Amino acid sequence: MSMDLTFLGTASCYPMPNRGVSCIVFKSDRQCWMFDCGEGSQTQVMKSCIKAAKVNKIFITHLHGDHLFGLQGFLCTLSQNFPEQKSQQTSQNPSVEIYGPLGLRRYLRTCLELSRSPISFSYVVHELEPVEEQLPQDWEEWHPEHTSSGLLHPGEGEGRTIQRDETGAWHLFEDSRFVVKAGAIYHRVPCFGFIIQEKTLPGKLDAAKLKELGVPPGPLYSRIKQGETVTLDNGQVIDPKDVVGPSRAGRKVVILGDTHDPSPLTSLAQGADVLVHEATLENSMRAKALEVGHSTPEMAATFAKTIGAKSLILTHFSQRYRPLGATLEKGEESVSKLQEEAEAVFGPGDVIAAQDLQTVHVQQPNC
Ligand SMILES: [Zn+2]
Ligand SMILES: [Zn+2]
Repeated sequence: MSMDLTFLGTASCYPMPNRGVSCIVFKSDRQCWMFDCGEGSQTQVMKSCIKAAKVNKIFITHLHGDHLFGLQGFLCTLSQNFPEQKSQQTSQNPSVEIYGPLGLRRYLRTCLELSRSPISFSYVVHELEPVEEQLPQDWEEWHPEHTSSGLLHPGEGEGRTIQRDETGAWHLFEDSRFVVKAGAIYHRVPCFGFIIQEKTLPGKLDAAKLKELGVPPGPLYSRIKQGETVTLDNGQVIDPKDVVGPSRAGRKVVILGDTHDPSPLTSLAQGADVLVHEATLENSMRAKALEVGHSTPEMAATFAKTIGAKSLILTHFSQRYRPLGATLEKGEESVSKLQEEAEAVFGPGDVIAAQDLQTVHVQQPNC
């Protein structure tokens, strides 16, 4: 089953004519999930191969504008342009589920209420309640009212409040193919990383052996593949262990929000097939990066090594760094510098400095 990540925006802070801010779309089978929705993300979607109406879950890492300011506009555009596709769902089975830190529900509801923007389809906002150690020192000074009150917005269903469990994770949801969790990472505001874990895949069918045993191709194949013992019309019993190969490990994709220290996520992210990590500033600007809650390529690559990641994708580049292939003016740097700095730690070949509209395929292990 294919699985890929499309980077719709790879800049930090604010969008530019040639580069959007944080927005990544994960696609697999019928799942189309957006991670962060910075200002202008909807126009990036239009430039890409992503079909906006297919987006059924949106995950927001933290409430900084370069990860969030596109959300209300994206939902309004979906509401206007795809009312039929999107309104077939019910409030029990909403069309779009949104996950993000406490305060996200109030933010979105306030934006939509004050701009008098009804949403034609059902959506819910599930909030992740941060823990004490995620709160910055100046939190009390800034502490706004995060809890929403009042009536639900038209289209809005009751969302859940999700707390950290005993394993240190926020368990967001599980279906037949995936388990999605969040974990805390350190930044200037409560911030999360998301872990998409594909479930173990059944082994491959030995088609030659099935033919030899006289099993007709069709529905029986999938029942056997799912581990069911079946009896043929002639009374012969087919045991899956004789005709199905060993099961295969599912893939793990880890997408982090902004961070200067993702260490609380170390065990949850262990063995990631793909780690998406910010690299806002170059190594020589480490002190500045730490001051503003961000990472350098060396920090990203060190974390990737710590968790045994198979590949590392860098994103969230400062506007100091021009996209790959751009003509450099005097004094400008390219994001290729950031890639090289990460490769010096992680090794060449498995580091990508993401570009806007680039799609990266997540390989099946041992393929
Ligand atoms: Zn950011
Ligand atoms: Zn941020």
